[in-house]
Formats: sequence, structure tokens, C-alpha cells
Amino acid sequence: MQTVKIPVSIDPIRAAASKLSYEGLVPGVQLKRLNELCAGDCSDVAVSIECGVDIQGIVYLKGKAVTELTLICQRCMTLFTTEVTVDFCFSPCGSEAEIDELPDAYDPIECNEIGEIRLHQLIEDELIVAMPLIPMHAEESCSKGDQDVVVGEIEPAQEERPNPFAVLEKLKSK
Ligand SMILES: [Zn+2]
Repeated sequence: MQTVKIPVSIDPIRAAASKLSYEGLVPGVQLKRLNELCAGDCSDVAVSIECGVDIQGIVYLKGKAVTELTLICQRCMTLFTTEVTVDFCFSPCGSEAEIDELPDAYDPIECNEIGEIRLHQLIEDELIVAMPLIPMHAEESCSKGDQDVVVGEIEPAQEERPNPFAVLEKLKSK
């Protein structure tokens, strides 16, 4: 299969109007933030994107990104590779109101001053979010697969919750 390089940034409105679609690679070595979180450079990311406008007139960029990451198993402390796949559906929004009206199926994204979005960066963000919180071999392929890993309780989506202290701070400053 012929592969092309995925553009670093694109104009989503124009791409959607011409119903562009891309199938290609984002070079793994360029994803610096992702590589910093891994034990080695990630492999090239296979990306497919379809741009269009839905029946409600919403511009979207829908696609999938797949890569292989090298991580350290938190049970046996050796390296292993794991595949990470993300499905995304972005929609460019210009204002808070637009974001509020956007159906849940879409992730709002902001365009820069020339109306473009940074595609590589967005894909990298998605991959970072999709990384396993506690990387581990599958039990059967881990040298310490019979041992339990003791980890602290992980609080789900902490940043989504309002901070009760913020309210107090506000009262105090009055
Ligand atoms: Zn292991």
C-alpha cells in the first residue's frame, strides 16, 4: 500500500469542503512529548483521516491512529511493546457557544489565526491520553505474571471535577 506523510497542519473547513481523505504516516520520532513518556521512540503512527460535513452542517475530521509504544512493565520492570489505537472525531469550533452546541460525538478543536489545526499535535495528544496508566505485560507473558501489583487507587478524571477550595477562595476574597 502506498503511504504518504500526513500534513502537520491543515485547514479543516477547506479540507471538509473538498472531502479530502488521508492515509499515511506521522513519523514517530517527531512526537517528542509522547516519546518522553515512553521508554523508547514510538513507531511511526499509521493514520487515516476523512474530512467532511455532516447532515447538520458540522465540519468534521474523523479518523484513526495506530502506533506501537515501548513501555516499562510496572510488574517486572522490563521493556515491552504495546499497540495503542485511537479513534477521533474532531470538529473545529470558533467560540464557546459553538462548543456548547456541538454534539457529544465530536471533540471540539480550536483553529489558529490562519484557520488551521495542528494535526500532528492533536494526534499526539490523543495517543498520550490513550496510553495505559499502569503499563504492564499481559499476565501470561510477564515474568512476574503471578504477582499482584500494588498501586494506589486511581481517581477517575480528576480535572473534570470542580475544586471545592476554589469556591472557598472566592468567598474569602470578597
Ligand atoms: Zn512484566
